[in-house]
Amino acid sequence: MSAWVAREHHRFEAAGKPFVYLVPSAAIFALDDAADSVLRTLSTKPHTREELAMALGGASSAPTTAGGGGRTLDVGAELARPGALDPNALDAAIAELSRVQAIGIAAAPVASTPKVIPLAPFPLTTMVLNVTNQCNLSCTYCYEYGEDKIVDTENGKQPKFMSEETARESVEFMLKESGANKVAHITFFGGETLLNFPVLRKTITYARRRAAEVGKDVDFSLTTNATLLKPEIIEFLAEERVGVTISIDGPKEMQDKFRVFQNGTGSYDLVAPKIKELLRRHRSRPIGARVTLTSGKMDVKRIYQHLTEEMGFWEVGFAPVTTSPTRAHAISDGGYDEMLGQFRDLAFDFLEATVAGRHHGFSNVKETLEELHKGVSKAFPCGAGLGLLGVATDGDVALCHRFAGSDSHKFGTVRDGVDRSAQQAFLEQHHIANKTDCSVCWARPLCSGGCYHEAHTRYGDTTHANLHYCNWIRGWTEVCLQVYGELSERNPAFLAQFDDEEMKELVS
Ligand code: SF4
Ligand code: SF4
Repeated sequence: MSAWVAREHHRFEAAGKPFVYLVPSAAIFALDDAADSVLRTLSTKPHTREELAMALGGASSAPTTAGGGGRTLDVGAELARPGALDPNALDAAIAELSRVQAIGIAAAPVASTPKVIPLAPFPLTTMVLNVTNQCNLSCTYCYEYGEDKIVDTENGKQPKFMSEETARESVEFMLKESGANKVAHITFFGGETLLNFPVLRKTITYARRRAAEVGKDVDFSLTTNATLLKPEIIEFLAEERVGVTISIDGPKEMQDKFRVFQNGTGSYDLVAPKIKELLRRHRSRPIGARVTLTSGKMDVKRIYQHLTEEMGFWEVGFAPVTTSPTRAHAISDGGYDEMLGQFRDLAFDFLEATVAGRHHGFSNVKETLEELHKGVSKAFPCGAGLGLLGVATDGDVALCHRFAGSDSHKFGTVRDGVDRSAQQAFLEQHHIANKTDCSVCWARPLCSGGCYHEAHTRYGDTTHANLHYCNWIRGWTEVCLQVYGELSERNPAFLAQFDDEEMKELVS
């Protein structure tokens, strides 16, 4: 008699019910008591059907298999009495768990993750244009400076500002490389993006005209530190429906800790009124804030409350600082634990607001819920080098904006197109199948080893998995699974909004 065994999964509980996240398929299922009992028993060791029947007790009532809609469903059957499983119910639970591949025959081989490399040419979804590599702030933690920098933006070969001509060539590159995609996303980045506002403005006008000529649309967004916002720029951004993300760290005492001018003066008093004016005038797109968390700045709830309730941002995204572990602002292991606790609190605030039908702007949880709902299972951690590329001020194309200008991470130029052999070699080297530590991790469908830039900064190697933050990633994924499970019971309509939404590249 063949023995059954549990396949790779992660069990979690939400809304007082057990759920399972199936790692190879990234699918989520609600479990009833029978299916949960079978899965838990098989998780300890393989059992034959008879051993399962013995372990779970005998009973006489007939099974009642319940199916559900969407990506969650109930499998198995009701317990006939506490601790005893009807034989028919046991068979039904085994059949359902086997059908969704939560369990399998122990002797049957388990398929390993296939190493599928996308066929070139892969269409470009998002082009991040570094219109300048200069900044008017000197944020202490910035990866562009100090020992963490990849490219010498002061004395290196790149111009400090992108020319109008290079920007136009970049637009042509984007339109061509976006292939059959109807919409091209262009994100302006820096340095401080608005230091090169004249080129940015002309590029938007040019791109709109050229896209219309070839039958495409272009979606524009930018990231700025807000110091250079002024009425005519705000007017332009609103008129042109440019998505805006503001880099800001929270209330004055937190913003002024790291986000300082060269003379050490904090930037809060300058940016706060400008941001309020932007939020008042620019109503054509929701405006988001992006916060960098460091060892000394970890009050997530207070920052969120200030940026939404006191300043008026629609949404706020948080990211731990990317830096070498030796720097004072680097987040320690204990710091990651603290950050997880604070993220959890805010995620459950998000849950309660969402159940009550109110908007909540904690974008980290919303983005992860979308990925969970869509069953995202990543062979690569992000779109960098795939659907997303960064362009340096001289028109060199790189893995992403954080590597723009680095010869070691170059993927061609906007004039010559994508270097397909460099891209292919990169994808071969960085596939999740090469990351042995990740191959046994249940969080890999969403993490896939983590950001290449973080890995480069930590380990000097983009192929390295970011093993310093695995506990944090797994803890955060668990929180998001719990929120997902709760929402699937208490407000499934919220999750249904993700059914039709296009997945966009996230630029961090
Ligand atoms: S980096 Fe860590 S958390 Fe991420 S997939 Fe690999 S082992 Fe899992
Ligand atoms: S996650 Fe990292 S590697 Fe990917 S686009 Fe963002 S910064 Fe670049």
